[in-house]
Formats: sequence, structure tokens, C-alpha cells
Amino acid sequence: MTLTEKILARAAGRARVEAGENLWVNADILMTHDVCGPGTIGVFKREFGPRARVWDPRKIVIIPDHYIFTADSNSNRNVNLLREFVREQGIEYFYDVIDDPAGTWQFDPARGDLARQYGSRYAGVCHSALPQKGHTRPGEVLFGTDSHTCTAGAFNEFATGIGNTDAGFVMGTGKLLIKVPETMHFRLEGALPPGVMAKDLILHIIGEIGFDGATYRAMQFDGPGVATLTMDDRMTIANMAIEAGGKNGIFPFDARTAEYVEARTRLNGTKREYEPVEPDRDQKFVYELVIELDKLEPLVACHPDPAQRRKARELESVKLDRAYIGSCTGGKTSDFIEFARVVRGRRVKIDTFGVPATPEIVHDLQSTRWGEKTIWQILLEAGVRLTENAGCAACLGGPVDTFGRINQPGLKCISATNRNFPGRMGHKESQVFLASPATVAASALTGHITDPREFLPA
Ligand code: SF4
Repeated sequence: MTLTEKILARAAGRARVEAGENLWVNADILMTHDVCGPGTIGVFKREFGPRARVWDPRKIVIIPDHYIFTADSNSNRNVNLLREFVREQGIEYFYDVIDDPAGTWQFDPARGDLARQYGSRYAGVCHSALPQKGHTRPGEVLFGTDSHTCTAGAFNEFATGIGNTDAGFVMGTGKLLIKVPETMHFRLEGALPPGVMAKDLILHIIGEIGFDGATYRAMQFDGPGVATLTMDDRMTIANMAIEAGGKNGIFPFDARTAEYVEARTRLNGTKREYEPVEPDRDQKFVYELVIELDKLEPLVACHPDPAQRRKARELESVKLDRAYIGSCTGGKTSDFIEFARVVRGRRVKIDTFGVPATPEIVHDLQSTRWGEKTIWQILLEAGVRLTENAGCAACLGGPVDTFGRINQPGLKCISATNRNFPGRMGHKESQVFLASPATVAASALTGHITDPREFLPA
């Protein structure tokens, strides 16, 4: 069996499963956020009754992150609905925007976009917050009401996005009927060369197979190249499995996975026991691709979909209006560090927005020093508009007052995010070019799409 099949077999109480079988599997974690949480709660109450109790209040993780720093009253109200539900059900893992469990959340636009407006428990973008807060464990099943839930496949678990109806059912029963996906095999060899990031690797793969090339399939990444990838790299790659239509992305378990998971579960007092899955000898794949990491180059996915892959150096004639670094794909500490390496001591030429994915990443950037300066100061001095209000922000557009949202037609934005369908970051007549944080940084410096290797020290 493949890694995905082994996890699903265990979660269904079976010795063996085959791709295509329908199984009832037990969930280890159900995650929801401010956009889908209220709808999921509505389904749960409608189907199980107004006084129903959730199946396990310690296995539901609620992370408001999407439409938080906006004056839109409906969005603010969603966060308040989550708080009421958490109180009613005794849910332990709620990463609230405010500290007062009896309070109400209201963003204050008069305090501006940049200075933090959240309390001490707020955790930022759910897919970055889940591992940081110790909720991702090898061998487990994670369902989330968000398509990028597949990010957690980096930790050797089966993680997938589900709709509100399914999530309402999981909330009540802890189970879900799943068709076992076929598995596509991506064998990674070698190591990424300087200036080439994990984002380039996943853009390469999506360019090879198309944005529907993995529809309802598991994408298994393994081979000797995995050992050269950090957990952040693996998260970037698993995150964009859904951009190829994948049901999930998954990595093998190794010492790096163990180190990360053990540190985070200990730090946060979450469950520390887990049982990883190892690959079998008899794995059946429906597709195989060997990727020599050393041969990859900085890539860009052009408007209007993530499979429109081109080499960055072939797109130098594309003039840009803005640059954006952030999201669950490109808003991690390591992403900002690669960005800072390129812009250090230089000035951006176009409007450039920076949104760390989580408050912990804000803290990392404000406390990590290169010489006299913090990374945060280096970015500010380069002209980046950086906000402390970690969250999804303009990755998915959001209400019109969202930080970094593209509100005018015709603007071209290079972005470290994961989606570039028309209207994704705001105006439907804008264009988004997806790239690594290094390529976004180099392009911000020149005002046109630029290969970041031009700016790397020899
Ligand atoms: S950062 Fe973007 S892709 Fe990630 S969860 Fe938020 S909206 Fe979705």
C-alpha cells in the first residue's frame, strides 16, 4: 500500500485497502475557520439538533484567520459566532482573535492596517498555525473546511479539505465516508540549487501534470531529495497539491518530521503520541515522475491558472504593478528570510505588501538579527509595507478594505501565494503571477518579472 492507503486503512480499522474503495474513516482532527465554521455549525445543529454535542471537543480545532482585519461587520460577526459555539461546546483549541471569552471582536480601522490588533491566543493562517500549535501528527487523519488542509501532508498524515456538509457530519460523529484515492508518485532526487525554492518545485510539477492533473488523487513525494527539504519546504509543496486537483499530498516520515512534531506537541501540551506510516514494497502508483531537483530553475505560473508555468528569465518583459509575500504557501519565516536575502540593502520599485502567516512568524522576523538589524527592519528599509496583522489578508481578495487587496482593474501582481484564477486577489480584471518568495523579491526590485539568481551573491 502507498502512504495514503496505509493511513486510510488504519483509520478504517482494516488490514488492507485498494484505491477506489469507499471507507468509513475515523477523524483525528477536524479544523475549521471563520469563513466555513459558522456554516459547518449550522449544518451540525440542523442535522443533529440544537442541543447536540460535538463528537469530541478536544479533536476540533477552530482557527479564525481569513476575514479578520476588516471593518466588514458580517466578517467580524463570524468570529463572534465561533466564540459562542466554543463556549457552548467546551472546545479547547480555539485560537481566538481577542482574549476576552465573553467579548466581541471588532476590527478598528482607525488604528490602521499595520499595527497588531489581536490578543495573545490568536494563531494566524490555519495551515501554518496547525503545525505550530502541535495539531499535526504523522499517521493521523486531518479534515479541514479549507482546500489547503492538504498542507499537513508534509507531516506524513492524510490531510484533506472537505465542505461544510461533510464537516458538520464529522463534527457530530467523528467519521467520514472517503473513497481511497489512487496515488501519483513524485520521486525527488538531488537538492535544490541556490535561488530555487520549494515553490519552484511544486510549480514545476503542476506545470507538468496540469491544474487538474491530480484530480482526486494522492500526490506522494518521496525519494532521496526529501531529506534535503525542510519542513517548511515540504509544507509549501503539500500545500499546492490542491492546485493540481489532488485529494492530498503526502511525504514520508523522517527525523526532521519527528523533531518538528515532538517540539511542537511538547511546547503546546497537545497529544504527543503518534504512529507514522512507512512505505510498503508493493506500492501501486497510477503515475510516476522523477524530478532532479538540481536541474530546476526559478519559475512563474502566469495568469490565469497555476499550471501556466514559465521560466522567470523568459518573462523579463512582463511589467508589474505590485508584489505580495504572504499566505500559507509563502508567508513562513523561511519565506521572508529568502525574500530579505534578495532585498537587503536595496529598495523595491513597486508597491510591495508583506503579510506573515502567523503571529509567531511576526515575532521571528522582529527578533532575528542579521548584524545590527532585524529581518523586519531590513524589509521595512527596503520599502516593503509589512503588517503585524498575520492572516490570509489579500491571498483570497477578501472584503474591499483588506490589506494588500487588488482593488483596481488591470493591475499585475507577482505573489508568493498559491492561486491565480481571475479575481483571486481582488479585482476580476487584475492578473496574479505565482512565484517563489525569492522571485517575488527580485521582481519587486526591478518592477518586472526577474530571475532572483541575478541578485544572489556569487
Ligand atoms: S492564506 Fe490563502 S490559501 Fe492559505 S488558507 Fe488563507 S486564503 Fe486560503
